[in-house]
Amino acid sequence: MRPPAVPQHIQSLRPYVPGKPIEEVQREFGLTEVIKLASNENPLGPSPRVAPALVEAAAGLALYPDGACFHTVNALAEHWNVPHDHLVVGNGSDEIIHYLGLVYLQPGDELLTGDPSFLRYEAAAVLNRSAFVAVPLKNHTFDLEAIADRITPRTRLVFIANPNNPTGTIVRRPELERFLDRCPEDALVVMDEAYFEYADDPEYPDGLDYVREGRNVIVLRTFSKIYALAALRIGYGIARPEIVKAIHQVREPFNVNSLAQAAAVASLADPDQVIRSRTSNCAGRDYLYGEFARMGLPYVETQANFVLVDLARPARPIFEALLRRGIIVRCGDVLGLPTFLRTSIGTDSDNRRFIAELEAVLSAAPAA
Ligand SMILES: *Cc1c(COP(=O)(O)O)cnc(C)c1O
Repeated sequence: MRPPAVPQHIQSLRPYVPGKPIEEVQREFGLTEVIKLASNENPLGPSPRVAPALVEAAAGLALYPDGACFHTVNALAEHWNVPHDHLVVGNGSDEIIHYLGLVYLQPGDELLTGDPSFLRYEAAAVLNRSAFVAVPLKNHTFDLEAIADRITPRTRLVFIANPNNPTGTIVRRPELERFLDRCPEDALVVMDEAYFEYADDPEYPDGLDYVREGRNVIVLRTFSKIYALAALRIGYGIARPEIVKAIHQVREPFNVNSLAQAAAVASLADPDQVIRSRTSNCAGRDYLYGEFARMGLPYVETQANFVLVDLARPARPIFEALLRRGIIVRCGDVLGLPTFLRTSIGTDSDNRRFIAELEAVLSAAPAA
C-alpha cells in the first residue's frame, strides 16, 4: 500500500536548517570546547528566578497546562500596560506566525515581507496556498516603500521583522508611519519584534503605539531571545481583541506548556536580567565592531544580539573551518548573502575566541 499523495505545495516547503547543536559538533570533530553563536541565544542565560519556578511547576506535570495562560497573560498585561484581551501566547512566536497564516490567508492571497528576512514567514504562506512575495532589502534594511508598491488587493499579511533577522537593521518611526498610512484596511501588518529589548536607537518604533492607535497591526515578542528561554518555547502577540480572538479560534487548546508559563512569569519579575543582558550585548557589539574594523571586514550595524560581517569572499569555506575549530556561526549563503557570516554576540570570552579563530582561519586561507 502507498500512502496518499503529498500535495505539491507541501512538497515545495523548504525545510528549516537550524544551527548545528553543540553536541553534534563535539562528536563530529572530537572537540570539547565548542561555542554556539548561530541562533541568537542569550549567553547569560535566564533569570536565576527561573530554575526554582521550574522546580515548583514540575510538581504539576501530570496535569494539562492552563490553556488560557492566565498568569502569563496577567504578567504581560501589566508589563506592557495593555488590556488582557489584547494578548495571545504561543509555543514560541513561531507558532503565532503559523496561526496568522491559518487565520488570514486563503488560496491565492499574498504574504509580503523583505528578502532576506526570517525564514519562517514563507511557510505561513505556502501552507495556505498563498503567494510568498519577498521584496529585496535596501542597504540591508526593509525597503518599506518598495513593499508598499507591491501591495495588491490580495495582500493580507505584511511581515516586518524589526530588528530584522539576519541583518540586525531596523525601520525607523517616520518611514514606518508613512508605510502604515499606505496600507489598505484588509491587510494586517505583523511587527515581529523578537529583539525588541535589545534595540536602543532613539527612532526605533514601539509597535504597541500602533496597536493602541487602533491600526491593523499585531506585535510579536518572545521569551526566546533576551529572556533566554528558547528551549521552553514561549512567545506572544499583542493586537486588538478582534485579531486576538481570531487567533484563539485556531489555537491548539494546550499550546503552551506549564513549565514555559511558570518561567515566563518568573522572568518578567526580574528586570535586572534584561538590563544585564543588554549591557553585556552592547559591550560585545562594540568589541566586535572594533575587531572587524581592525581586520578590514565591513559589517552591518545591528540593533539586535547578532552581527552580519562581510568576508568579501565565499563565506562557506570559512564557516566550515570555524566549525572544525569549535565555533558555530551562521553561513550567509543559506540566507542569500554568500559572502557574509552572521554571528550572535556572545560573552566576552566567546567573542574573543570567535575573533581569534576567525583571524586564524582567514590568514590560513588568504583571499584570492
Ligand atoms: C528568534 C526569532 C523569532 C521567534 O522565536 P520563538 O523562539 O519562536 O519565539 C521570531 N522572529 C524572529 C525575527 C526571530 O529571530
